[in-house]
Amino acid sequence: MRRLMKALKGLWSLAVGLRITAVELIKPQITVHYPRKEVDNLATYRGHIELVPQDEDPGTPRCIMCWRCVDICPSRCITLRMHVQGEETGRAADPGLRLSPDVQVPYSQHLAPPPDRIVRVLDGYRLNYSLCSLCGLCVQSCPVDAIRFTGNAYLVGTTRQTFDIDLLARLQQRAASTAAARGAARAA
Ligand code: SF4
Ligand code: SF4
Repeated sequence: MRRLMKALKGLWSLAVGLRITAVELIKPQITVHYPRKEVDNLATYRGHIELVPQDEDPGTPRCIMCWRCVDICPSRCITLRMHVQGEETGRAADPGLRLSPDVQVPYSQHLAPPPDRIVRVLDGYRLNYSLCSLCGLCVQSCPVDAIRFTGNAYLVGTTRQTFDIDLLARLQQRAASTAAARGAARAA
């Protein structure tokens, strides 16, 4: 009798398992077979950050080089390089130099134009994505909405260098390929 009960219990458990399997089999599929297919519902996905281009010039970022994103990033994964137009010599001497209209730099005091005429040029903007925690502080603190999250869920790599992303070059490459695609479409 004991053995019969045990067998019945096992059969019941098997039936329950088969029922669950059958229900799941007829449900609509919600996963895709990557990499043959990719999902398209990534509107709210937080991939790595990217620079936002100016409306009138897709190859130039909106960034005004205020350094807020660099300063607020808790993981120290953003690197920004810039120079002030007319002070290229100074930039070579100190590539990490921070200049702003209200900052006096000893070696260049006599060269600096009046603050209202200072033109800053962005030389580099890199993200070390291996360190990024996707906290969003940089995006929130940017005063001109010059950075945003990408929907790139498919970034893979076998070395750390893959995740050291040159965001300025990326923006410029995207602008160049968009312009080339538009040119090709016009010619066709
Ligand atoms: S999302 Fe957070 S961790 Fe990542 S770059 Fe921005 S501030 Fe740094
Ligand atoms: S906070 Fe925005 S404007 Fe300021 S340096 Fe960062 S990306 Fe540029």
